[in-house]
Amino acid sequence: MRHPRVRVLRALLLLFPVLLALSACKRDQAGPDPVAAPSAEPAAMVDADEHSYAEPARVAIDDLALDLALDFDTKTLAGSATYALQWKDQTATELVLDTRALVIEKVDAEVDGGWQPLEFALAGADATLGSKLTIQAPRRPEKVRVSYRTSPDASGLQWLAPEMTEGGQLPFMFSQSQQIHARSWVPLQDTPQVRYTYSARITTRPDVMVLMSADNDPEATRDGEYSFSMPQRIPSYLMAIAAGDLVFKPISGRSGVWAEPSMVERAALEFADTEKMIAATEALYGPYRWERYDLLVLPPSFPFGGMENPRLSFITPTVIVGDKSLVSLIAHELAHSWSGNLVTFSSAKHGWLNEGMTSYVENRIVEALYGEEFSDMEWVIARDALKRDIGDMPEATQALAIRPGTPLDADDALSQVSYDKGAWFLHFLEERFGREAFDRFLRGYFDHFAFQSITTEDFLAYARQHLFDVHPGKVTEAEIDEWLYGPGIPAEAPQALSPRLGIVDSARLGWRGSKQLPPTQITSQWSTQEWLHFLEGMPETLPVAELEQLDQAYRFTGTSNGEIAMRWYPLAIRSGYAQANEAIVAFVRGIGRRKLIIPVYEALVETHDGLALAKAAFEQARPGYHPITTASVEKVIADARPSGDAAPAPAADAPAAGADAPAAADDGAASN
Ligand SMILES: [Zn+2]
Repeated sequence: MRHPRVRVLRALLLLFPVLLALSACKRDQAGPDPVAAPSAEPAAMVDADEHSYAEPARVAIDDLALDLALDFDTKTLAGSATYALQWKDQTATELVLDTRALVIEKVDAEVDGGWQPLEFALAGADATLGSKLTIQAPRRPEKVRVSYRTSPDASGLQWLAPEMTEGGQLPFMFSQSQQIHARSWVPLQDTPQVRYTYSARITTRPDVMVLMSADNDPEATRDGEYSFSMPQRIPSYLMAIAAGDLVFKPISGRSGVWAEPSMVERAALEFADTEKMIAATEALYGPYRWERYDLLVLPPSFPFGGMENPRLSFITPTVIVGDKSLVSLIAHELAHSWSGNLVTFSSAKHGWLNEGMTSYVENRIVEALYGEEFSDMEWVIARDALKRDIGDMPEATQALAIRPGTPLDADDALSQVSYDKGAWFLHFLEERFGREAFDRFLRGYFDHFAFQSITTEDFLAYARQHLFDVHPGKVTEAEIDEWLYGPGIPAEAPQALSPRLGIVDSARLGWRGSKQLPPTQITSQWSTQEWLHFLEGMPETLPVAELEQLDQAYRFTGTSNGEIAMRWYPLAIRSGYAQANEAIVAFVRGIGRRKLIIPVYEALVETHDGLALAKAAFEQARPGYHPITTASVEKVIADARPSGDAAPAPAADAPAAGADAPAAADDGAASN
C-alpha cells in the first residue's frame, strides 16, 4: 500500500505501532505449541510470524468460501466461512485460527456429506493479536465451517453513515485488512505465510453495490446479492470488501474506476493512464497475472493513500487533484501486483520485499510514462525525506532487514526505511549491474517466486545465483551486507539529481534573500512535486508577513491539494500564522488520511493554544474518522507536551518550537 511518492512517509504497516503499542512480542504465544503436538514437522517455520497464532506447518487453508450478510443497521457481517484444509502434519489434532472481536457461534466439520459440530475454544483477547480460536479436529476433516458474526467496531471495517459520503444518500462500508485486521472480519490463518483461493456470496440491501478483491463484474446489477471468486491464491491481508453507492467507468478493456456517482468522472480522468501503466509494467516484468485491474475510490476518511487489494486497488480521493500529478500512487498500487501480491513477504520483518521493491517498480513505471525528469524529482523528494528522518530513528530500525534469528519488535518492522531505503538499494543494484541485466533479473525473480511468500534470505540466495554470480565483481558481500543490515544510508548509494528541483531551490533562496517571488512564468509551470519541494526547503518558522506574502501569491491556505496542505499548515502553525486556523480545522475535519493530517496535529499540539485547537477539531472530526486514524490522533494528543503559546513569529531560521519537537515530526507518526 502506499501514498504518492511525493514525500514518502511511513508504511501502511506502521499501523503496527498503533496496534502494537503494548507490544511485548507475543512470540511465545504465536508459535507452534510443542505440548499439543509433539511430533510437529522439524524446523517447521524457519521464520515464524509472531503476529499470528496459526500453525501453517501443520495445516493450511487451501480455499475459503464466505457466505455473509452485510447489514448496515447493525454494522455487522454475519454468516459462515468454510475452509478447505490441507493437513500437512498427520498427527495434528487442531485447527488454530486468528480472530479479533468476533462472535463465534458454532464450528462444524464436513463428514460423509453432512455437517457435524466440532468443539472449539475462543481464548481471551490479546490487545495486539486478538483471540486465538482453537478448533478440535482430531480426524483432520477436509472441510471445516465456522459460523460467526463481526463486532460493530471491527478494527478492519469502517461503516459510514450516508451523510459521511460524497453523495449523502446511501451508507458505505469498506475493509482495511493489512496488516492483521482481516481477522476482525473473517476467522483466518492471518499470516502471509498462508495463501489460498476464495469465493464469497454476500447479501445486503438491494440498493447497494458490493465489491471484493476478486472478480468484480463491471456490468453487475444492483440487487443485494453478489457472488465473487478469487482463483489466484492470496495471503489474508489482501482480503477486501467494500459496499456503497458505487458505479463503474471503464478506462480500458481490463481496467476501470469504481466510485460514487459524483466522483467517478473526475476519477476516470485523473487515472486515465492506468492502462498505459499496466502495459509499461508488463513490458518490464512480465504479464499482469490477475486479469482485471480496477480502482476503487474511497471516501476521504480512508486512512491511507492506497491499498493494493488484488484486482481492485483501494485509493484515497486525495490524489484526485486535476493534473495527474499524484498518480504515482496508482503506479505504486499497481506495482504491488508483482511485488507484494505475487511475490509476498513471509512476515512483516521482510517488509522491504513488499514496499521497497514496489517503490522501486513504481518509480520505473513513473519514468516509463512521464519521463526521467519526473521520476528523478520523485527520487529526490523521497530520499531527502529519508535522509532527514533516518538519523532520528533507533539504529536497529535503520536497517532494511533483520538477520535471521534476531528477535524483532514489530513496532520496528516497517517504516520509511522499508519503502525508500529498500527502493534505493534496488536502484543501487540497477546501477552496478546495468539496467538491462537488472531488469532481466527482476523479471526472473517475479516468475520464480510467483504466488509464494518469501524472506530476505530467499531473495538473497536467488540474487546470488542469478545476478551476483553471473556478473562477478560488480558488488561486494560487504556492500550487500551494509545495505541490508547496516544503519543509515551507505556512502556508495547512488545520488539522484533533479534540475527541475534545482530551479525550485534557486527560487526559494532568491525569495528568502530578496523577498522577490519567482516570476509567474516559472511557477505557473510547477507541478505538485515542485511546490512540495519549495515548501519543504523552508525554515522551521517564517515571519507572519512572509507567510502572508506567499499566501497572497499562491493561495496555500485553503488549498484543495492535501500534499501541499500537509506542508503549509505545519509551517503556518509553527510560525503563529493564526489566519490559517479556520482552514486548518476544515482540513483535518474533511480528510481522514493519516499521512496528510497527522503532521498538522503534531504541529498544533506543540503549543497550549494549538493543543486546545487540536482537541476541538478532533472532537468535530472524530465521527468521520476511521478507527485507525482515530487511534493515531489520540496518540498525538496524549503524547502532547506543549511548550508554550504560539511564538509571535520568531526570526527566520529559528529552531523548531519546543525542545522536544522531533526533527522528523512531519513524518513521525504519519503513515500513508
Ligand atoms: Zn505499498
